[in-house]
Amino acid sequence: MNLQEARAALRSARRVAVLTGAGVSAESGIPTFRDAQTGHWARFRPEDLASPGAYHRDPETVWAWYAGRYRDVTRAQPGAAHHLLAALERGKGEGFLLATQNVDGLHARAGSERLVELHGNLTTARCELCGTVVPLPAPEDFTPPPTCPVCGSRMRPNIVWFGEFLPEDALEAATLAFQEADVALIVGTSGVVYPAAGLALETRREGGVVIEVNPEETELTPYLSFSVRDVASRGLAALMEP
Ligand SMILES: [Zn+2]
Repeated sequence: MNLQEARAALRSARRVAVLTGAGVSAESGIPTFRDAQTGHWARFRPEDLASPGAYHRDPETVWAWYAGRYRDVTRAQPGAAHHLLAALERGKGEGFLLATQNVDGLHARAGSERLVELHGNLTTARCELCGTVVPLPAPEDFTPPPTCPVCGSRMRPNIVWFGEFLPEDALEAATLAFQEADVALIVGTSGVVYPAAGLALETRREGGVVIEVNPEETELTPYLSFSVRDVASRGLAALMEP
């Protein structure tokens, strides 16, 4: 398949499933987990900040880390790739689903609605007892930990941590969408991080077209229909050109 054919396949597809990863947010200046680990945070291992065990031992430190990351994402703006995917959704309607590994909430801010956030969302908190999810107050008004408005329990960052399972309903919705997709797009994710590889292969197994947008070759590349070797914004723009 070449770029013309990939473009035509995307244009005529009735069902489109998209998976996005860090590459989409990098263009908005969102630091990766490791990039954000500067200064005070440099001496922590990721699992000291992002695991159930760490939170159990020291919820204040874990919340301080996530409050900082929440500040970072509220300062960032959705980029061209976020807006292009929101436009693609408006064009496809019901047959569209966007699954993201990103936790910055930028897809929603760009207008994506048929969206599943596989790894949670930095801008919300989840009740440790009853599971209620609420948006965090503005960073300047936020003193962690938040308290559940329903049951009064402590709330935790609404993030999937090391050693935790992905939310079952989100993963099911994504799997179904990738199985049914005429065209699947894998944008800005290496394919190594679960569940990227699995989702792409679901589409391939069912006979659908899978197109990757990534500046670099990935472990998935050999299994895909076509690869656009570019950053997310330019790669998506090339695919969506009329
Ligand atoms: Zn609660």
